[in-house]
Amino acid sequence: MASSPVPEIRLDLRGRAAGQWRLKQGIETLRFNPEAFIRDWQAHFPATIAHEVAHSLVFRRFGLNSTRPHGPEWQAIMHALGLPPTVTHQTPLQGRRSRIYFYKCGCRSHELGPRRHYLISRRGYRYTCVYCGDPLEFHHRMAWR
Ligand SMILES: [Zn+2]
Ligand SMILES: [Zn+2]
Repeated sequence: MASSPVPEIRLDLRGRAAGQWRLKQGIETLRFNPEAFIRDWQAHFPATIAHEVAHSLVFRRFGLNSTRPHGPEWQAIMHALGLPPTVTHQTPLQGRRSRIYFYKCGCRSHELGPRRHYLISRRGYRYTCVYCGDPLEFHHRMAWR
């Protein structure tokens, strides 16, 4: 019996779900919502990855028809991975809208998206203004784009 190919992994999921395991015409796809990981890395890595990988493992071992999506087989894999078998998440996801973060340098204000704000505030990245060379300092968070 030929082994199934590795599932396709995509980071194009939008909306309320943080992850998705999908089977379409025999092809498995794991999809992840980048907004979930930007907003709460700790909550989704590795739990959301494992959640969807566990769906794939259940499918490969048992097929589709004999199991429920989050049934005992799926829960056993999560348990083996040392992760809670949670089905819902607490991260407020907004789909396509994203916050704007205002930063200031020596000369003007800059609008940054959530990814760069995350890198600065949580990962220690530094950005400097191309006009005055000052480091960007977080000023306030405002509207939705
Ligand atoms: Zn699931
Ligand atoms: Zn500047």
